[in-house]
Amino acid sequence: MNLDDLTIKRALTLLSKGEITSKDLTLACLDRIKRFDPEVKAFLYVNEEWALAQAEASDKRRKDKKERSLEGIPLSIKDNILIRDHPTTCASRILANYIAPYDATVIERLKEAGAVFLGKTNMDEFAMGSSTENSAFFPTKNPWDLERVPGGSSGGSAVAVALRMGLGSLGSDTGGSIRQPAAFCGVVGMKPTYGLVSRYGLVAFASSLDQIGPFGLNVEDTAILLQIIAGEDHKDSTSCPIKNLDFVNFLEQNSQRSFRVGLPKEYFTGDLHPEVQRALEKCIDILKKKHTLKEISLPHTKYAIATYYIIAPAEASSNLARYDGVKYGFRAECKNLIELYKKSRSQGFGKEVKRRIMLGTYALSAGYYDAYYLKASKVRTLIKQDFEEAFKEVDLILAPTTPTPPFKLGEKISDPLQMYLSDIFTIPVNLAGLPCISLPVGLTEDSLPIGAQIIGPAFKDDLVLASAYSLEKELSLKLLPSILINQS
Ligand code: GLN
Repeated sequence: MNLDDLTIKRALTLLSKGEITSKDLTLACLDRIKRFDPEVKAFLYVNEEWALAQAEASDKRRKDKKERSLEGIPLSIKDNILIRDHPTTCASRILANYIAPYDATVIERLKEAGAVFLGKTNMDEFAMGSSTENSAFFPTKNPWDLERVPGGSSGGSAVAVALRMGLGSLGSDTGGSIRQPAAFCGVVGMKPTYGLVSRYGLVAFASSLDQIGPFGLNVEDTAILLQIIAGEDHKDSTSCPIKNLDFVNFLEQNSQRSFRVGLPKEYFTGDLHPEVQRALEKCIDILKKKHTLKEISLPHTKYAIATYYIIAPAEASSNLARYDGVKYGFRAECKNLIELYKKSRSQGFGKEVKRRIMLGTYALSAGYYDAYYLKASKVRTLIKQDFEEAFKEVDLILAPTTPTPPFKLGEKISDPLQMYLSDIFTIPVNLAGLPCISLPVGLTEDSLPIGAQIIGPAFKDDLVLASAYSLEKELSLKLLPSILINQS
């Protein structure tokens, strides 16, 4: 079975015609994992027996004419999303032996839709990072160039989709962790509007920013997955009661529409890598033919990283207080309770996680709260208002996903500030809670993928998808990571 350009949509057609079975498909994906994962290391956990049992159950449902909307499609899941009775490590030693006692809502919905889970993907520890090098276990490599990072923190999920080790994946995006790896690996990734997808069963990093979202080989597959996981959930008090979501039909119905597209001048500066600049210019030329383009300003963009690196660590320091060696995972040898806390946390957490906990605890501490956390919250409102103003004039915003193509493994790992700066274009969107998709828009001369993002107003996820769908058609790129080209 040739998986190279097999989309979820096409696989569903082949399955329903009886030309393939879910077992065939699952075996083909597992075969890919065996061939490529030793090189790229996208997975933390693969359970072949479990995957095949799910595929066989799916084939039986299809035989009994009880098939569901995603019947028999093999997927991978980022390792901070709970699947009952299977490990969830968050790529951290502190959760190394943790087995999830319940399903995340998104998993429940995918199960109800008939999906097959292959395993859990690698990530930066507790989703803190932009390169997957902060995994406590091993870094993941970019399939376009094994010396480069796949992006992060959902690097494993992006690589799994790029190499067809599963037809889709779920990641989480707090400051860019779906979009940046999608851009670096040449796949599509979407951060939905905050509140569209339930966070129940997602291990919390920064709860006011975290969203689960899908990765797909193309925009339509991404829409298919979002359609299943989106929607109100009483188990997440920030989930919104949005009804009648039909992202998939909306795509085709609205692909001919013309939009007013904003180009934020703060994103298109001289600092942009020339090859990213060139790829974006090509997009702009294409969009011009159908849409009205307009320069806009998001004046508080320059404060976004500083704001994020107060708010996200503050929330993280509070969320991660629960890992104390008592209730979850790793417990250090100790003589008394204080030592238990100290040793379990200092041995269980990695360097970046500790850095965030310290930053966050400091920002929230008495005497500093007003100067840091409160001020950052106010700036966050200004950033949100920038977008609200812009959306009075335009329907959507186009921007580069990342300032550079994928960087080298090791290049930024000892310089946290440089690493933080790589999220400069993705972070404002999380602070404002908006929907945003990253899609591949070109390759560098060295065949490294470049992504662009389309940002929409809150709960206009359908519009974001429809515009990305039409841009993808116009671009009609054929993208195959070099590791796959070299094998054939
Ligand atoms: N790279 C950002 C960080 O390190 C964003 C991470 C994310 O979205 N989970 O916090």
